[in-house]
Amino acid sequence: MNLHEFQAKHIFSQFGIPIPRGFVARSAAEARSAAQELGGSVQVVKAQVHAGGRGKAGGVKLAKSLDEVGEYTEGMLGTRLVTHQTDEHGMPINAVMIEEGLDIAREIYLGALVDRASKRVVFMGSAAGGMDIEEVAATEPEKIVTVRVNPVAGLQPYQCRQMGFALGLTPVQIKQLTQIMKGLYRCFEERDLSLIEINPLIVTADDTLLALDAKINVDDNAIEVNRQAEIADMRDLSQEDETEVQAAEHGLNYITLDGNIGCMVNGAGLAMATMDVIKLHGGEPANFLDVGGGTNKERVTEAFKIISASPDVQGILVNIFGGIVRCDMIAEGVIAAVKEVGVNVPVVVRLEGTNVEQGKQLLAESGLDIIPADDLTDGADKVVGAVSA
Ligand code: ADP
Ligand code: MG
Repeated sequence: MNLHEFQAKHIFSQFGIPIPRGFVARSAAEARSAAQELGGSVQVVKAQVHAGGRGKAGGVKLAKSLDEVGEYTEGMLGTRLVTHQTDEHGMPINAVMIEEGLDIAREIYLGALVDRASKRVVFMGSAAGGMDIEEVAATEPEKIVTVRVNPVAGLQPYQCRQMGFALGLTPVQIKQLTQIMKGLYRCFEERDLSLIEINPLIVTADDTLLALDAKINVDDNAIEVNRQAEIADMRDLSQEDETEVQAAEHGLNYITLDGNIGCMVNGAGLAMATMDVIKLHGGEPANFLDVGGGTNKERVTEAFKIISASPDVQGILVNIFGGIVRCDMIAEGVIAAVKEVGVNVPVVVRLEGTNVEQGKQLLAESGLDIIPADDLTDGADKVVGAVSA
């Protein structure tokens, strides 16, 4: 789960990580009074969306008067921000942050994430702050400094000094960096995070280190088992894929992709295999929807509705292995959904396993325009053929 910058900064402050003074605002009037409270000659208006790259996209603006604060806020609220990290529709701006404008001497990148290979939290730092870390990693990987934390010993002060020296910080700055890294590590562990990114961590003209931007990614499993109630309450569904949210409400695992073939499968492994075989046959999946191991007719119907509702879907492949689920029950769900919502794209169904004959018979006798497939290869071949026809 992702958080907004203002929420991540709120959490940072609980762990002693210094942040600029600032307020969240949901109207121009709120923005103006926030700016008044902050004082100073420059305030920054920052769009709150679940995406980075806001600065280059017009989502971060320096205001030099209260009127400018109001004007920029009004210009942003209610619109959608398209950045290089969003799709072409962008993300809705429902809130802005009004922050004190700081005098920046240096911009540094500092992040922490779980390195699965070493099974440790790894800190990454780069003197090229403000830039995309992916770009630095691709073009100048030697500029990224990494520090791996032993989970038993915890983050050691010498590791923070190592990072500080590598980033070219002065002793006074390294002292501050050490406190920041310690706070980040504690935050990472206590809040079940999977990623923290401060880009940029700035050094101000008067030698103070501050987290100017804040990105936090929380492990969804921690939310699911109610370990992080405060963070769970911060969830902003307006920033998430609508269909994925709708699917989750029905206990379905749905992922939006870029192609035009909708996939309904049971089990994540079968989903991967199905998408591989579709691609092998020259097709592109539009999504995959995993109805899960022990499902029922209602969930299958709901799943089918969700898949067919997407305007990008030009064909559907249902690929089910009946182990715990029975193929005849899947067939009933598909038939009920097609009858209820009507489907105007080709539907290829491949069933295998428990009660497969009954399932096939139900489909054949339904009178619906469903293309049966004998196996996965046959199914992929038929659905790719149907959408390119
Ligand atoms: P994003 O990464 O989405 O573009 P940032 O929060 O990193 O958004 O802001 C982009 C840039 O805007 C920063 O690199 C910094 O140069 C400038 N900026 C952001 N906040 C402030 C601030 N409070 N004072 C001065 N400059 C700022
Ligand atoms: Mg940033």
